[in-house]
Amino acid sequence: MAHKRKGFEITLIRRRRIDDLAKKVGCPLNWNRAPGVQWNGKSVACKDQDASNIVHDIAHYAVATKKARKSLDYGLGAGPDTKHGSYTYDAMDPIYTYDECRAIERKASALGIYWERMLKLPWKDTLAYHNWDSLAEIKKDWRKLSRHINKVGVIK
Ligand SMILES: [Zn+2]
Repeated sequence: MAHKRKGFEITLIRRRRIDDLAKKVGCPLNWNRAPGVQWNGKSVACKDQDASNIVHDIAHYAVATKKARKSLDYGLGAGPDTKHGSYTYDAMDPIYTYDECRAIERKASALGIYWERMLKLPWKDTLAYHNWDSLAEIKKDWRKLSRHINKVGVIK
């Protein structure tokens, strides 16, 4: 089971807000599927996930290329919680270099945290959890992500 952080429990209001966010991004969610693979090329596995994980994966979808969306876990390779299940190790191989993966993770982290703040989640917790040095640092990244931020707008 994936790691669940305190303060990020899925409540009814949070689920509604996450559904709204996913809809605006165009990212399909599956509340009945648990990871293994978080993104299986069709949907984000939401079962047994905390709100931070799901929002992070919606952010991955937002910044992913078409090719990445066709790949398991957006082509970023197996992580510590990955369970291959019926998938081969080849199918889980990253389609990016290590540095590219790091750059993509940084984008998804910044965008996810922006949305956590909007969804009234304890986002400062995730700021520390993802090892951001400061609010000033992530704010620079938020400016670079304005296209994605503006596309979604505000969710109440
Ligand atoms: Zn990620």
